Amino acid sequence: MYTYQCQVCSKVHEELIFFSDYENDNIPQVCGADTYEQGCGGDLYRVLRAPGTHSSWAGTGKHGVNGYFSKALGKHVANRHTEQKIMESRGFVCEADLPKDRWDTAVETQRRRVTEQDKNIETYTEALKSGKTKEEAVVEAFTAHDAVSGKLDETWGKNE
Ligand SMILES: [Zn+2]
Repeated sequence: MYTYQCQVCSKVHEELIFFSDYENDNIPQVCGADTYEQGCGGDLYRVLRAPGTHSSWAGTGKHGVNGYFSKALGKHVANRHTEQKIMESRGFVCEADLPKDRWDTAVETQRRRVTEQDKNIETYTEALKSGKTKEEAVVEAFTAHDAVSGKLDETWGKNE
């Protein structure tokens, strides 16, 4: 079972997806057209199931006479507290609620690693061009200092 939420009507769809479908990227993308229940035709995004993770479902609805309409749940609930309880009991975390900097940090770390790798390779290539042996070039590019300080591991990864 995978959970998808519509970006337009916020309806939550729970879909049974076979592994072969998943492998072939045959996953629901359109609210209604690709889902078991009817929908509005809006784009779907995957809702991650992360038991125990708190999320900010608050701020996604309107207060009314008959309680509160939860866009996340697609139905009326008594109040936000109830909504939150239901969402958490289902183990939902909205992808949009994940901290943005988690992605940014990953990208930045990767960019820095690639820059460092380029520098190592450049030094290595230059050393070879200047007539040094491969062993000497390696020593020059991947300095003992970098290895001892853990910078090499950080740059290239321990298992690469
Ligand atoms: Zn929809």
